[in-house]
Amino acid sequence: CLHPPKSKRLSKDEVRPSNDSQRLKDRAKSLESFRKSLPIVSHLKEIRNALLEKDVIILVGETGSGKSTQVPQALVNEPWCKPQSVTISRDASPQTVRVGGCIAITEPRRVAATTLARRVAEEMGTPLGRYSPKSTVGYSVRFDQSTSPNTRIKYVTEGVLLQEMLGDPWLKAYSAILVDEVHERGVNVDLLLGFLKNIAAGKNEGRGGIPLKVVVMSATAEMEILRAFFEGYGREEGDGVHESRDVQRNGTDGLDNQDETESEWSGLSSSDEEDAVVVHGNGTANRVATCYIEGRQYPVTASYTPQPVQNIVEASLRIIFQIHRQQPMPGDVLVFFHGRQIIESLESLVKEYARDMGPELPKLLVLPLFAALSQAAQDQVFQPAPPNTRKIIIATNIAETSLTVPGVRFVIDSGKAKIKQFRTSIGMESLLAQPISQSSAIQRQGRAGREAPGQCYRLYTEADYHSMQTSNTPEILRCDLSHPILTMKAKGIDDIVNFPYVDSPPRIALEKAMLQLWLLGALTETGGISSIGLQIAKLPVTVCLGRTLIAAAESELNCVSEVIDIVSCLSVEDLFLNLTSEGKKTEAEAARREFYNREGDHLTLLTAIQAYAAENTDRKAWAKRHFISHRAMKAAIEVRKQLRAQCQQSGMLKPTHTQEPSALTPELTTSILKCFMKGFASKTARLCPDGSYKTMVGNQIVAIHPSSGLFGKKVEAILFNEFVFTSKSYAKGVSAVQLVWIDEVFQSAAPSASMKVLV
Ligand code: ADP
Repeated sequence: CLHPPKSKRLSKDEVRPSNDSQRLKDRAKSLESFRKSLPIVSHLKEIRNALLEKDVIILVGETGSGKSTQVPQALVNEPWCKPQSVTISRDASPQTVRVGGCIAITEPRRVAATTLARRVAEEMGTPLGRYSPKSTVGYSVRFDQSTSPNTRIKYVTEGVLLQEMLGDPWLKAYSAILVDEVHERGVNVDLLLGFLKNIAAGKNEGRGGIPLKVVVMSATAEMEILRAFFEGYGREEGDGVHESRDVQRNGTDGLDNQDETESEWSGLSSSDEEDAVVVHGNGTANRVATCYIEGRQYPVTASYTPQPVQNIVEASLRIIFQIHRQQPMPGDVLVFFHGRQIIESLESLVKEYARDMGPELPKLLVLPLFAALSQAAQDQVFQPAPPNTRKIIIATNIAETSLTVPGVRFVIDSGKAKIKQFRTSIGMESLLAQPISQSSAIQRQGRAGREAPGQCYRLYTEADYHSMQTSNTPEILRCDLSHPILTMKAKGIDDIVNFPYVDSPPRIALEKAMLQLWLLGALTETGGISSIGLQIAKLPVTVCLGRTLIAAAESELNCVSEVIDIVSCLSVEDLFLNLTSEGKKTEAEAARREFYNREGDHLTLLTAIQAYAAENTDRKAWAKRHFISHRAMKAAIEVRKQLRAQCQQSGMLKPTHTQEPSALTPELTTSILKCFMKGFASKTARLCPDGSYKTMVGNQIVAIHPSSGLFGKKVEAILFNEFVFTSKSYAKGVSAVQLVWIDEVFQSAAPSASMKVLV
């Protein structure tokens, strides 16, 4: 940073970089002593030394010990982390390529990836990502990337890295992959571990033999399962790759967080021209080092309710005010709930009661924390409370291990989390609030003892605690496998049964997913990936939405632009605010009436997003007036922008397509719905004589969700975006379709005998 000669005055823009760099340096300096105090610090040398010798290290350490922030910084200047030029023979012609130079840290959630990147940029005194070409720290999450040409440390979601692997199957851009939060065992992390093992087993051939270092980081003791998995590393197929299945799972592997977990699909620059990585090669075992980082945890006392709690919102409200009246400051409260809606109802109640508090009590600052929250709102959670104020953070299990919220001394644990479950009979997933595992309960309790002794109020009985599962079931054993299988197929893995899984998924789930993909036209009759499948794999949306987009590009009445609009709305949280009070509900219905379409929710979303996009005075006020979530709309507009760019790049969307609001003619409406039919044929139901709807696959009774514009209506058949199960089975995001359209899709893809040999 150069100081200007006194005689020359610089413009404001010229001055800013030097001021900024000084400010960044000062900030980094101020964080130094905190960093030095983290438990991981005394292990960093050991980790560096281990990686000089071995290619894999498994780190187990308490949440907050410094794994995610400190390990990348400790490794980035290692000799093996420099980019190298290597010559690789491809199609008999040698090519010189650059391998390595960058570290990727994978996170299950976008919020963790972006927050950690910001924090590490601060600690290193560098601007973040796109804000400066000099920045060395960045992130890449679905629909949002902040990197520079100089990025050396990149926080990514697991899905984004999987997507990157479509174009770079040997991960040549990277010297190391740090797989964080492995204890969560989401399906993407399991796939990633398998692919990483395949790269090593392939002897890093596509990397010119340069090893890819792998650091597996977990907050709970799954060390033996992971070590066994990686020690099979590089052996002959059928010899070592599966032995981890025999290892007894020993109880404390963490949590399920699937409501918050992103299924991330970036793929903006993927290419499939590279060879697939498949397992082969000779024995190269004993490449695995392990390191245990002892935590720094103060004692936390746990209390249970004597009787099961009927209303967790009321119970939490009572405990919050009891703490606030009786417990000394400082000491923030962290409440674990299972979803945004219930979080928001407690948030408004606490605010309401806080208004009536006497002036003798400190103030309360109520902060929700869930994945879909804006960055600014999330940042508030990490800021210290203002003077004489106690923070009440109401979070999903995102705060369990993923993010460390400072200042917490009291935890209220509802004992519930939303957990994804695949229902094999109907081939659909549902997200259900379910009891957490003991391992999750222990993690939640631990959040209260990070800085001082704490207290944990469990809103369940001690007997309930003992009846909980000890650990959570990995997602791969209970989710719809269509997307994971498509990812494998797109990477040239044909034998999906013998993929190196940490835990092998049930065969029935593999079969269902194969059939579903085949029905969508994503697989050929022999189980290989079709050109449609490859196109879907590159799109940053779910398999069903991807198929819908492709159908739109193929449709005669080219309706890609409209379908992109609807897909964008379906790729973010609910646009329409869910109102609980009756009066507000009626008011909201009146305000939104102009968007309602009698064909259903898909076209209603189209009208809403187009009206919002056309609003050019005050979009925030517009959203408020229509009881629409401004945050969700902004996110949908961002998704729309990126999907349009990607579809234009791939030729699916012609540059002549405008973003002008569509005149919804009956032909256009039919055309749009028929495209959704191609993607969602397995999520359809027909009206039965008794007035109920039964799904076409699995004959399950479903009711139209009260949030749908078609609620209470009878139409011959429906197509729906989502299957939800609360007190009963509901179809959410519903449109009216014709039975003949459903028949057309099923007839054109009647399951053939040959599909049986696929799995
Ligand atoms: P781990 O990965 O072991 O859970 P981290 O490296 O994420 O630990 O965090 C180390 C410490 O850094 C935490 O205790 C937390 O206090 C602090 N920290 C991490 N991220 C942030 C942030 N965005 N803002 C403030 N402090 C943070």
